[in-house]
Amino acid sequence: MTTQEITQTVLGDGTIAELAEGVRGDVIGPGDPGYDEAREIWNGAHDRRPALIVRCTGVADVLSAVEFARSQDLEVAVRGGSHSIPGFSTCDGGIVIDLGAMQGVRVDPDAGTARAQGGVQWGQFDHETQAFGLAVTGGLVSTTGLGGFTLGGGIGWLVRKHGLTCDNLVSADVVTADGRLVTASSEQNPELLWGLKGGGGNFGIAVSLEYRVHPVGPMVIGGPTFYPGERSGEILRFYRDFVRELPDELTTIANLLWAPPAPFIPEEWHGKPLIGLIACYAGSLEDGQKAVAPLRELGDPVADLMGPIPYTALQGLLDPLWPHGKHAYMKAGYVRELDDAAIETATRYHQEATSPASEIHFHHFGGAVARVDEDATAYRERQAPYVLNVIGASHDSGGFDSHVDWAQRLYADLEPSLTGGAYINFLSAEGEERVRAAYGEEKFARLQALKDEYDPTNMFHLNQNIPPSGA
Ligand SMILES: Cc1cc2nc3c(=O)[nH]c(=O)nc-3n(C[C@H](O)[C@H](O)[C@H](O)COP(=O)(O)OP(=O)(O)OC[C@H]3O[C@@H](n4cnc5c(N)ncnc54)[C@H](O)[C@@H]3O)c2cc1C
Repeated sequence: MTTQEITQTVLGDGTIAELAEGVRGDVIGPGDPGYDEAREIWNGAHDRRPALIVRCTGVADVLSAVEFARSQDLEVAVRGGSHSIPGFSTCDGGIVIDLGAMQGVRVDPDAGTARAQGGVQWGQFDHETQAFGLAVTGGLVSTTGLGGFTLGGGIGWLVRKHGLTCDNLVSADVVTADGRLVTASSEQNPELLWGLKGGGGNFGIAVSLEYRVHPVGPMVIGGPTFYPGERSGEILRFYRDFVRELPDELTTIANLLWAPPAPFIPEEWHGKPLIGLIACYAGSLEDGQKAVAPLRELGDPVADLMGPIPYTALQGLLDPLWPHGKHAYMKAGYVRELDDAAIETATRYHQEATSPASEIHFHHFGGAVARVDEDATAYRERQAPYVLNVIGASHDSGGFDSHVDWAQRLYADLEPSLTGGAYINFLSAEGEERVRAAYGEEKFARLQALKDEYDPTNMFHLNQNIPPSGA
């Protein structure tokens, strides 16, 4: 049977029509125009055929969609910005509860807070908050959704200055599996708020999220300086010394990549291995220029684009490298020590990458992240000096398996230098053991108790899943 036949047989046209009448947003099934576009997510590696996609316009639609899914016993995928690397925001034969049309942002400059609906992307959020010179730690790519990003932790250019995004989550309105709307804040359901700070989409659908926002920009010092890939070993050894004593204002990434055919990279370098040192200094421009100078003074850069830049432009700078439809696989963890063995391994694999779209990122961590109390959030692993993200990727499906294999082999060879922990936003679908590794046994048990309370039947299981204790 085709997905269309399954949808009609199992749900019946009348049942679907009833749902469609009860919601303001579109209800799209396999026979409807726009179905193929509506079922796409960012990661082109996942080609799934849901029975229904409900494009919610507000909380009422989300409540109806959850109620419908429960009554019809449908598998549920929740979608915000659709950037899930393992493809959790789509499914075969189930219902996609798509928040993408819920794009309201309300900034309260006096209170220093901003509230966003669950479908907002970072580019939209930054646009609204920067009108008041405010920001919170957001994604490195402007089309990533706030929802999945925040609930998993949230690492971006302001992370050392203002902490993880989830550290700035003040409250959230959540639709639960039994169709209630609950608020999680320090006054109401504080344990749920604790769980939302890193526990992912396990406890319900966050229809709106309220953040503490901070004065940032509008100009910052930021951007990349690129050096030849053959110098990666020398530059990573410099980098590990450089980051030891940095002000919180400075967040940096060392990025081993292959030069894209971009106008800002000299043509003779296109398609060749490069190392990029990318920075954001969120403070005075004068101090920032001084702070980033050593990154730019390593001699003979291929291209040096580091300098004053509007914060919103920095937030979109990497977008062209991460277009919708790219095929991507991530293998990620935390680096215990960037020792010589890890540097040798990373540089060797970089040269041998099976795809020019693959990258290796070392995100320097610490600063404000490390000062948050370990018990304050479900997110764990605040003291590691770097987050490692190995991305096996291509712009189409050709050879994708070999890129996945490359990422897995590299990660395995780096494991002696890693902590064993996991960051759920960069995890692929790797099973419960890696999810447990993300939280540690104590936090996992606490999250499981929350799961028992808010989602005992595991309706929300398409995520880095914390199963209920009885499962
Ligand atoms: C191009 C790209 C760049 C990225 N850059 C960064 C980065 O800089 N830093 C970083 O930390 N991570 C980054 N990520 C990872 C990203 O944080 C996760 O993929 C995150 O899940 C994306 O959120 P989303 O809403 O866009 O995803 P979706 O695919 O829409 O959702 C993923 C999952 O999150 C849950 N979810 C989403 N919204 C809600 C909600 N409102 N309520 C409840 N559950 C929800 C659901 O379980 C859903 O299946 C990046 C990913 C990509 C593809």
